[in-house]
Amino acid sequence: MKSIAIIGAGISALSLARQIQPYYHYQLFEKSATAGGRVASRTLAEQTLDHGAQFFTARSPQFRQFMQEMTAAGHAADWQARFVEMEGAVITSRRQWDEEYPHYVGMPDMAAIGRAMAQSQPILFNSEIIELNRQAKSWHLKDSEGHRYGPFDWVALTLPAPQTLALLPTDFSAYKAIADIPMKPCYALMLTLKADPAFAFQAALVKNADISWVSVNSSKPGREGHSLLVHATNKWARAHLDDDIESVKQHMIKSVTAVTGLDPQLIEAAEVKRWRYANLPKQEQPAFYIDHELQLAACGDWCIKGRVEAAFTSGLKLGQKLKL
Ligand SMILES: Cc1cc2nc3c(=O)[nH]c(=O)nc-3n(C[C@H](O)[C@H](O)[C@H](O)COP(=O)(O)OP(=O)(O)OC[C@H]3O[C@@H](n4cnc5c(N)ncnc54)[C@H](O)[C@@H]3O)c2cc1C
Repeated sequence: MKSIAIIGAGISALSLARQIQPYYHYQLFEKSATAGGRVASRTLAEQTLDHGAQFFTARSPQFRQFMQEMTAAGHAADWQARFVEMEGAVITSRRQWDEEYPHYVGMPDMAAIGRAMAQSQPILFNSEIIELNRQAKSWHLKDSEGHRYGPFDWVALTLPAPQTLALLPTDFSAYKAIADIPMKPCYALMLTLKADPAFAFQAALVKNADISWVSVNSSKPGREGHSLLVHATNKWARAHLDDDIESVKQHMIKSVTAVTGLDPQLIEAAEVKRWRYANLPKQEQPAFYIDHELQLAACGDWCIKGRVEAAFTSGLKLGQKLKL
């Protein structure tokens, strides 16, 4: 049986691992302490907030089937939010998300999706791979602590495009195409509140402001307490990418109070996460990249679109290819 090293343990990596399970010896390497990547949650003032992906939809038959199983197993639920669109502080449209198609969230937090998919997968956590070396047609890896792993017949990179590029040899067949992938940054402001903010909405898409999204995080199924999650626009995040995190936090708090009328006295705790590579527009690319000569492949949301389903599909399609 051939062996493969999978770098990363986000949704694309975990989807890939599910596909190749009976066909390869494999090992996942993840730089953080948990699986799921940008489908992430964090604890602040004893409340858990989803500071990456907010919810996701499932359109392809494979992902729909997978999410039905995840929901039946209690790892996911349908968030039927009161949704509005806003122009600055003005609500321009309202609608209730209903059962027409589910808006999935992890249960009891978004990170539950990665936790469930990672069950019984061989993942080495806290292992940031910084080098790939090819010797005698085999791959050897080195992590940031100087530990070495290998040999592996294949390597699959499942990281955001710029981080993938940093590890790829320049003779990888699609190196130039990957260098052109335009990933965008985002800031996520997490707020825990002393009481319900009593908004007219539970999820809001905002235009004409420095913030693009406000959700009442605690209104998702299975959540407790009172919390808000706010995203900066990609444009504002790019212009302030290297700003001091405290000044980003203050600006975002000012923006969300201006847009929603939130009383700042309600805020109990606040924290900001900087996402350098958050999302990207739809790509006209293959769903994954593979170099058969080098026995090296790359997948991730960035091959298709900045969405959880895209990450799942990219990993699934690479896995199907590797099984052939
Ligand atoms: C703020 C924000 C909001 C979003 N909102 C939504 C939404 O509402 N709906 C939606 O569908 N999608 C949303 N997305 C996008 C969605 O989260 C992603 O499309 C998806 O999670 C990408 O999965 P992935 O496996 O391709 O990459 P990732 O999740 O980025 O996984 C890559 C993994 O590799 C690890 N890693 C990186 N470098 C190394 C290394 N050198 N060695 C080892 N491990 C490494 C990382 O820690 C990570 O776990 C959002 C993303 C962000 C950031």
